[in-house]
Amino acid sequence: MYCFAFRPYSRKFCQPLRTHHGSWEVREGILLRLSDEMGNVGFGEIAPLPEFGSETFQQALHLCRQFPEYIEKTDILEISEPLPASQFGFESAWLDLTEKMPFETELPHSQLLPTGEAVFSVLESQKPEAGKTFKWKIGVTDIELELQWFDRLLSSLPPNATLRLDANGGLTWETANRWLAACEGRSIEFLEQPLPVTEFDEMLQLCDRYTTTIALDESVATLRQLETCIRRGWRGVFVVKAAIAGSPTRLCQLCENHRLDTVFSSVFETRIGREAALRLAARLQTVPRAVGFGIEGWFADDEERLLRQF
Ligand code: MG
Repeated sequence: MYCFAFRPYSRKFCQPLRTHHGSWEVREGILLRLSDEMGNVGFGEIAPLPEFGSETFQQALHLCRQFPEYIEKTDILEISEPLPASQFGFESAWLDLTEKMPFETELPHSQLLPTGEAVFSVLESQKPEAGKTFKWKIGVTDIELELQWFDRLLSSLPPNATLRLDANGGLTWETANRWLAACEGRSIEFLEQPLPVTEFDEMLQLCDRYTTTIALDESVATLRQLETCIRRGWRGVFVVKAAIAGSPTRLCQLCENHRLDTVFSSVFETRIGREAALRLAARLQTVPRAVGFGIEGWFADDEERLLRQF
């Protein structure tokens, strides 16, 4: 039996995050704590992302409120599939309590750049270091304009920088082809989710037509979707948002059995969820790639203070 406590949180972005899904202003999630009679404690976090097919914050909150003060391992294992962020949160709290592994990963982080033209003022003011990986969202405004910015961005980046593009499923067949043509001969690490989830076969065709690697993100948000895309023959990169994928144990089995080329990525969770996801990344990323957790400075509040209050 484990004593269970939870605390919902709400964090405001300094600047709303603009993607093809819209503008995101507040990250809501739930911190979880399990403790046993020996005094061992484990923390977990539910950080839902309904735009990617996870449960909503309200559904996760409802689950937490339904649980009694003392829960068992079976309660955690029985959390049902439509609640993948909750499966991750509870199971990683349980793993934290039972395994108590020290946190150490040396993985490099990619830095998320502001969307659109706002990228240039940040690059000018921050003077980013050489050799870093950057990520820039596309498919948000007029393609002509974005392609001009893309050229300017490539010449503004520091030496040996790596750039990944993320369309969040916001391109059409025509604009995806234009983007990939523009990427030819440029060192773009990958283009993430060019087309909507429903256009899987078209994305497979894009892989054959161009040399730039394509990564699936929205298409593989949950373990069930990940399984489906493996079965349907995806051999590109898989972006794994561990915090909304579902059970970490099942995620490990799937990635290891199929030797997937994965890039672990953030859903703007706090350090609790981030550390749980990065432990998985350290174990499961087979190709050296920067992880997508470079989100420092995106929130207005003090994260450590928020965590200390729990
Ligand atoms: Mg993405």
